[in-house]
Amino acid sequence: MNDERVIEGGCLCGAVRYRVDGVLRPVVNCHCGQCRRTHGAFGPYTDCARADLTLLRDETLAHYRSSPDVRRSFCARCGSTLFWDRDGAPHISICAGTLDLPSGLSTAGHIYVADKADFYEIDDGLPRFEGSSAGVLDGEASN
Ligand SMILES: [Zn+2]
Repeated sequence: MNDERVIEGGCLCGAVRYRVDGVLRPVVNCHCGQCRRTHGAFGPYTDCARADLTLLRDETLAHYRSSPDVRRSFCARCGSTLFWDRDGAPHISICAGTLDLPSGLSTAGHIYVADKADFYEIDDGLPRFEGSSAGVLDGEASN
């Protein structure tokens, strides 16, 4: 966990901006088939308490319901993927690449590696899980 502080982020074109007032979880790389298609490979996600996330600009923020209880949010103008949000969950997942740098984060591990693309290898020595880590990586995004 990073120290509690304020960090901002946003999409490629700048039409969506957000601020997190609180603790961000270490990054979990999700290799599931949905993340493969929406991110082009894996999805690096941090997360924060829902109450700590403030949308500063969201006129172009659009949503796609990728599972019955999950919506993925993206910028309808530039296509940046921003959030992974399970209905009613206390935390919301944030696509870590949209954070302004330095993020202060590091990567905790990999989930859904059974579904990863065949054109890259995972060789960083971090924990990996065939599916969900069942909470081992702490509040991870899963589908
Ligand atoms: Zn945008």
